[in-house]
Amino acid sequence: MSDVTRRDFIKVAGVSLAGLLVRPVANLFAFEELPESSPLTARRWGLAIDLRKCIEEKNCTKCIDACHLVHNVPHFENPKDEIKWIWKEGFEGAFAEQDHPFLEEKLKEAHPLVMCNQCDNPPCVRVCPTGATWRRESDGIVQMDWHRCIGCRYCMAACPYGSRSFNWREPRSHIRKITPDFPTRTRGVVEKCNFCEERLAKGLPLTCVEACTAKAMMFGDMEDAGSEIRKLLAERYSIRRKPSLGAQPSIYYLV
Ligand code: SF4
Repeated sequence: MSDVTRRDFIKVAGVSLAGLLVRPVANLFAFEELPESSPLTARRWGLAIDLRKCIEEKNCTKCIDACHLVHNVPHFENPKDEIKWIWKEGFEGAFAEQDHPFLEEKLKEAHPLVMCNQCDNPPCVRVCPTGATWRRESDGIVQMDWHRCIGCRYCMAACPYGSRSFNWREPRSHIRKITPDFPTRTRGVVEKCNFCEERLAKGLPLTCVEACTAKAMMFGDMEDAGSEIRKLLAERYSIRRKPSLGAQPSIYYLV
């Protein structure tokens, strides 16, 4: 389900004629003729993760490694200092509301991939006193301005998914290999997955999706009923993390 090429992305984003009539999302009919820098756009980005395909690749960390490399995520051995944009978590921790004693063994032992859920109703945004994080109305991505972050960590307390990390220590010297075209952060700043907004702006797919050789991930426009992600979700049973909290995550897990 992973999409590596721009041609494949057209299938993944699956923008329908109806969607195009509503809004000229990247002109996908002529996509191949567009310059490399044409942005990928959607009215609301979403991501579907095929839990079963992901489970099959038990020890795979390709998506995590690729994301952390591209985004200059520092590496700390000490879990207290750990910075994570995308990581694996036990099924019980990830899906507490779906857990029960008679759950299929395979799922019980699974370590699903988790990240910022790019919530439609993000509690982190509501508590930020400086406006350093906000939900982008144009496509639903929950963004951050690291220069405006004062390190109060209210957002971390508010996020029910533990999706935000705080730089307790100077991060730069703990980055394994610096990617020059993406900013590094400083001590005292919160960070999280940015749904590869910088790549979408350049017409590139999400790093994790591109890196997944198991084809376990698909992203696309949730507002477009004809998109491939919407078709997939209409066909397969899917769950979201902690739905009762009302944050309305944009990450869906196919089970
Ligand atoms: Fe905010 Fe957490 Fe939702 Fe991400 S997962 S948008 S950090 S509340």
